[in-house]
Amino acid sequence: MPVEELDNLEVIDAHAHFFTYSMLKEWFSDPKNVERMKARVKYQTDVGKFELPDEEWDIGQMWIDEMDRYGISAMGMMISPQAWDEFNEARKKFPGRFLGYAQIDPDQDPVETVKRAGRDGFQGIKLYPSSGKHHVYERDLFYPIYEEAKKNNLLVIIHFGITIGNEANLRYGNPLDIQRPALDFPELNFMIAHFGAGFFREVLMLMYQTENVVMDSSGSNSWMTYLPYDLTIQKIFEKALRAGASCRIVFGTDSSFFPRGFRYNILEEQYQAVKALCPQLCYSDEDISLIFKENILRLTDFQLDI
Ligand SMILES: [Zn+2]
Repeated sequence: MPVEELDNLEVIDAHAHFFTYSMLKEWFSDPKNVERMKARVKYQTDVGKFELPDEEWDIGQMWIDEMDRYGISAMGMMISPQAWDEFNEARKKFPGRFLGYAQIDPDQDPVETVKRAGRDGFQGIKLYPSSGKHHVYERDLFYPIYEEAKKNNLLVIIHFGITIGNEANLRYGNPLDIQRPALDFPELNFMIAHFGAGFFREVLMLMYQTENVVMDSSGSNSWMTYLPYDLTIQKIFEKALRAGASCRIVFGTDSSFFPRGFRYNILEEQYQAVKALCPQLCYSDEDISLIFKENILRLTDFQLDI
């Protein structure tokens, strides 16, 4: 199921969010969160309109419709505890279309949640140190999580760097924190979201220093605005390709809510950026295929619905 408008590119969106009615209802019961969402819609042109979902919405079906509309093969979804059951139903109803990554709170039965993710056939776990109170290298807390992820063959996705979370503490958001665990767990794969969301230099250094860390390209990458030098999407890909090669970049959109749905503009922009680099850096169609589809399949052993 290729994307016709983009040279019949085959695409898996490796980083998106499965927001359900119950989850958003709980989130918006806090007025602070409502204010923050309003501010986002106002200041970020890319957000567009936001609607609270209806209780009747079938989120799984809605994402399937989006994928079919654009020609996307599958999407990887971050799953919070409140969204778990609804996601699981969608995953079973549409096999080979949804990868699941369980969000792990290191202070709330993390090992049990990782076990459950493995049992339920999820492909990964997601850690969010930027909004937490811990460094991901803390052995007592995180090594049992990595151990269990290894047993269940789960990809470890980590959001470092800047974040919209109101409790963010960037002291815990430096990707260099994952260097030691990556060396201690060579069989485990770690994926850093949004090219490190501002800590791009650190992520590039990790490409040299580790073998089992990859970066995801998801979102608008607006963290560029907060760096003291100019970057463009194309420049980011060029640096990432030079430092990490095509086998270490994983495409994602960070799509999350409706009516915006699938963020096709991000796919288009990133595809054009990679394509423009091809002649200059001698990359082939194979490299493009790794970034937009094959890397995430290799990292998770996910079986597409073909
Ligand atoms: Zn995300």
